[in-house]
Amino acid sequence: MQLTPHFTLAELTASNTAQREGLDNTPAPEILPRLVLLAQMLERIRTQLDVPIIVTSGYRAPAVNKAVGGVTSSDHQQGHAADIVAPGYGTPLQVARALAPLVSVLGIGQLIYERVGGKYWVHVSTRVPERPANRVITMTGQGAQLGIQDGH
Ligand SMILES: [Zn+2]
Repeated sequence: MQLTPHFTLAELTASNTAQREGLDNTPAPEILPRLVLLAQMLERIRTQLDVPIIVTSGYRAPAVNKAVGGVTSSDHQQGHAADIVAPGYGTPLQVARALAPLVSVLGIGQLIYERVGGKYWVHVSTRVPERPANRVITMTGQGAQLGIQDGH
């Protein structure tokens, strides 16, 4: 099912973990409108960066979210968030830095630059966090820091 011109439901629900563990990652009907909003946000990001966006993790059913070690309050489980990379634009750090000043313009509720276990990606959510300071953060194995931090 095509959600927006460049994003499909299959892309936003694909999960290697679900496949490997035989878990059903089909979203409940009430999640679908949120995934449309998520895809619309991804379209704005795609237009801004002017390159294709690769979604590495979108919606996660509760069992899938648990299997990947996600927190229960995860925006992924609610259909609000996607982890993305855009190699055509640059590294995840470069993508995060390009998007950080534009979160309001692009309707990104929360932007997280994630550096965990030698992997790097950008988490974007349609949901605005309760604390405004948490809108743009960096997450590492050591915890959260404000803003985009490259660790050097
Ligand atoms: Zn994420």
